[in-house]
Formats: sequence, structure tokens, C-alpha cells
Amino acid sequence: MVTTPDALVAEVAQQRRLVTPIPGPRSQELAARRSAAVAPGVSSTLPVYVERGGGAVLVDVDGNSFIDLGSGIAVTSVGHALPAVVDAIARQAARFTHTCFMVGPYEGYVEVCEQLNTRTPGDHAKLSALFNSGAEAVENAVKVARHATGRQAVIVFDHAYHGRTNLTMALTAKAAPYKQGFGPFAPEVYRVPMSYPLRDPEGMTGAQAAERALATADKQVGADTIAAVLVEPIQGEGGFVVPAPGFLPAIAEWCAARGVVFIADEVQTGFCRTGDWFACDDEGVVPDLVTTAKGIGAGMPLAGVTGRAELMAHVHSGGLGGTYGGNPVACAAALASIETMQSGDLAGAARRIGAAVAGVLGDLAARHPGVADVRGRGAMQAIELVKPGTLEPDPAAAAAIAAGCHREGVVVLTCGTWGNVIRLLPPLVIGDELLGEGLSVLAATADEVLA
Ligand SMILES: *Cc1c(COP(=O)(O)O)cnc(C)c1O
Repeated sequence: MVTTPDALVAEVAQQRRLVTPIPGPRSQELAARRSAAVAPGVSSTLPVYVERGGGAVLVDVDGNSFIDLGSGIAVTSVGHALPAVVDAIARQAARFTHTCFMVGPYEGYVEVCEQLNTRTPGDHAKLSALFNSGAEAVENAVKVARHATGRQAVIVFDHAYHGRTNLTMALTAKAAPYKQGFGPFAPEVYRVPMSYPLRDPEGMTGAQAAERALATADKQVGADTIAAVLVEPIQGEGGFVVPAPGFLPAIAEWCAARGVVFIADEVQTGFCRTGDWFACDDEGVVPDLVTTAKGIGAGMPLAGVTGRAELMAHVHSGGLGGTYGGNPVACAAALASIETMQSGDLAGAARRIGAAVAGVLGDLAARHPGVADVRGRGAMQAIELVKPGTLEPDPAAAAAIAAGCHREGVVVLTCGTWGNVIRLLPPLVIGDELLGEGLSVLAATADEVLA
């Protein structure tokens, strides 16, 4: 299949079009029903309710069309309702929707594992297991690392995000809103400093930042009790923090020398998002275990742990699994998505998108001293907002810019330990014109807020 952005988008017109104020009357009705029915602990970014999606556009229940620069948090990388994915889902759903792989195995599960084993970094022998969510993948990676090493401690980083289950809350750095009031947390988790070039001492190299982190791990935990070092190669929820070059290779090397399992959490960065199949590819880093989820299956719940065959095979039969893990419909969606990424060169598309986005964000930073940093890789780009002339975070500016974009029909997301980062994660099939329009709206909104 020859794929161009045009061939990849569904029937929803690829345009921004507002026909009511935001939120419109039907969205307001749904918001009222929601507050009577849905637990308030589950929050939403957008003030509108979605009726359909296609390509890089979301249409709400009042008929407003939004340019989606968030992809449901890096999930719909192949775009909304991609026909090849919709067909694959429909065909599989008509055959069977569930057997439980632990009861009745099927080919799709095996094939997704083959794809993961082939495409994740490194050409050593690998095995995979499938789960439902990123958090579940991270939990299972830690289980494998502990089982294989016979050690318990896990090293994680400042600003890390790994999920909301009990173990992954412990692994996640940020207290509010993820951990507040939800303790006690799982033990044997130790946090060390991340490489954060904007906020690290001027000129600190990646190797020096790794040394700072690992010296702490060594002194406070002791390498011979450490099962795993777990790191996002580019941090997601924590603020799109891109570590200085050399940081990840130094960590991988330290782990290899000490029998510590190096786990790359590629849940947000994986599957072409950063311009390679995986973010670790950029520096040729080969993790022992890789966790994947978000971008793998166009929104169908699916996640994976992939790693060195000897680590993955260490766990006894029945030690890994779950009722739904590797659901056949989700696997069909993943296989169609992966085929599209390959045939459509969506990694290349991510690099082109990244160049366009970074250009606009760079111009913004040049105009506004409140934009302290433009960072990211490929179609994962962000600005960090501060009080001008300081490094003091400005979450109010980020919130105002995001809300302004939403009112104008452009979906952008915020993130960061202080909530002061605007992040862009467009679908990798977005057309140049639509992307340009979305970025113009963002720039105009930021000009207004930061004036
Ligand atoms: C989103 C995310 C998770 C958690 O994934 P869920 O599917 O929400 O459980 C874990 N790690 C990273 C890096 C993420 O971005």
C-alpha cells in the first residue's frame, strides 16, 4: 500500500471548523449528565464531547471540528479511524473478540510479539508478553527484572511517569494529582536526579548527569541489590524532558557492568513518535527490557514487554499474563497500525512534523522570554513556560494557552512536574496545511497570553 497523508485519512474533512461557541449546547448537556454520573477523580482536558474522529480531526457533538495535536496522548499516531485499522478491527471482531490467550491462543498475539521483537532496539534474541495498559507493562517489566536478578530495588528518576497502579504510583515522581492520598506505596523504589538540561548546572553533560544519578544509586542503595534502572528515554508526563546526549548510553553501560536490568519505558515515545521506531534508537541504546503501549494500536488497549530472551524466559510458566492481555481485536489493530507505520514511513513523517513544529515554537521562544525552552524529538515537541528572566515555572500561562487553543478548535496538551509545559503530539498522518493552521492558532494564542 502506498501511503501519503491524503491516503491515510478517513472521511472526516481535514479542517478546523467552529459552528458554536466552545463548549456548544450538546457538550454542555453532556457535562451536566457527566457530573451526576462520573466520578470527579477522572478529569478531562477538553470541554467538548467527541462524536467522531478522522485523520487529525476530532468532531464534537455540536459539529465543531478540532485539529488534534494531542493524539489522545500519543496514541492515535496513525490518525483517527484509519480505514485499514477499522477494517482489521471489524474483521477480527466478526471472527472472535476473546478467548483469553492463556486459554485459547491465536496467531495475532504471536505476530504482535514477533513485530515487537523485530522492531525494538537491538538484534539479540528477544521474547515478548502482552498486556492491557502502559502501567501494566511497566509492572510486568519490573516483575521480570526482579525474577531474573533475584534482587528487589528499582531505580527511577525525578519527573518520571510510569502509571497509576500501586507499583507504578511508587515509580511515578509527581505527587499531585497521581499519588496524593493513595499511599502506602510499594517499597524498594529509589529516586535519583534526571538529566534536565534547562535546569541542570550550565554545561553539565549527559555522562555527568548519569554519574550524578548513578553515584546516588550506588551510595544509597548499592548496585548489588538493584534489580533494574527504569527510565523514559524522553520523559512524557514529566515535561518532555530530553536528557543530554550521552545520558542514556552511560546508564545502559553502568547497568550492563553490574548485572542490573536496564528498562526503557517507551510507552509514550515508541512506535515512530520521535522519528525512529523507538526513542532509544537515536543514540543506539539497547535496553534489556522495553515497555510499549500508547502508539502501538491506534487506541485499542494493548501493551507489551519485550526483552532479552534469557530475562523474559526466566519467569516460570503462568507467572505472567492476565484475562485480556493481548486481546485479539487489539492485536489486529496493532498489526494494521504497524503495517501503516512501515509502509507509510511514519517515522519519516514524525521527523518532518518535528521540524515544522520546532520552527514555530522556536520563533515563539525568540519573541517571548517566558518561553524558556523548546525541546523534544520528532513529533513530540514542547515549550516550557517560566516567569520571564527566571526559571520559575508559569503553569498559569500554560493553562491559559491550552484553554485558548481549545476555544479556537485546536487540541493541545499540557504536562510537566509544575504543569508549565505545552506539549504537541500530532497524529503522524497530519497534512502540512492542517498542521500549519494548528500551529498558527497556537502561536497567536501564545502571543496573546504572553504579551
Ligand atoms: C502513559 C504512560 C504510562 C502509563 O500508561 P497507561 O496505559 O496509562 O497505564 C507509563 N509510562 C509512560 C512513559 C507513559 O507515558
